[in-house]
Amino acid sequence: MNERAIAPPDTLHSASKPGTVWFVGAGPGDPELITVKGHGLIERAGAILFAGSLVSEAATRWAPADCVIADSKDMTLEQMSAWLIAQAARCETVVRLQTGDPGLYGALIELVQPLDAAGVPIAVVPGVSSAMASAAAAVESLTLPEVTQTVIFTRVEGRTPMPEGESLEALAAHHSTLCIFLSITLMGKVTAALTAAGWSPDAPVVVVHKASWPGEEKIVRGTVATIQALCREARIVSQSMIIASPNLGARHWTTLAKSKLYDASFTHRFRRASVPVDHLLQDTP
Ligand code: SAH
Repeated sequence: MNERAIAPPDTLHSASKPGTVWFVGAGPGDPELITVKGHGLIERAGAILFAGSLVSEAATRWAPADCVIADSKDMTLEQMSAWLIAQAARCETVVRLQTGDPGLYGALIELVQPLDAAGVPIAVVPGVSSAMASAAAAVESLTLPEVTQTVIFTRVEGRTPMPEGESLEALAAHHSTLCIFLSITLMGKVTAALTAAGWSPDAPVVVVHKASWPGEEKIVRGTVATIQALCREARIVSQSMIIASPNLGARHWTTLAKSKLYDASFTHRFRRASVPVDHLLQDTP
């Protein structure tokens, strides 16, 4: 544990009324991708527990000088919840800062339960997930009209077993967009599962390493057949999102089914159709 400051005196609380522990999504890496709300909470936090180097920057940049800051990387879940409960006993605002969005692969519930049991109020502030940041970095749309309208957030089985029916092969059978977390070192398993689910060797796959990190982001584009070797060549072994999707590369397609929302013939709540359907150019090249 790496505490930056000695605990300031408790001016805000009596032991009978604990402060709130805010689970804040710090975003994918770029400190500017935290929400305004998350930023405001850091600025008034009495204590911050952050999850490793990924989010330390935001914590140290905006926290008050007397804020107690600790890195959770060497703590067990029990130590983390004990730390959060102790800090909530003495400050009004305690922040648990997590990468991306706290609700994705973030041990949120494991930490909330002991706080609930201790009677400490909690709240969650969403964050920009690395899945969204990776799509943005690569200028890809995860959904595309008439191609796929579905996104699956998943991972391949590592030490954490996958529940029944959620093998990558089973999920890939939908041929929708797959955002695959925590799996860059298991790329062989990823491509084997896509192949077994009927994806062609030429199907595009993009890997984004450290999406949004200023100066460190890498984007590797390949196919089911080539992506593993390309990532190895680029020495990408951590902090990467694998996106497999029939939508990839659509920026360069010459025919595209346009979104109905902006279609001139489509009347919706905010706009009346202005062009008769027959006059519409469909799939403009
Ligand atoms: N809650 C986080 C995910 C934490 S799990 C979120 O919403 O993004 C950690 C995994 O997230 C990594 O193995 C990697 O797959 C992905 N990841 C986290 N930050 C990333 C980034 N900046 N670029 C690409 N992938 C990232």
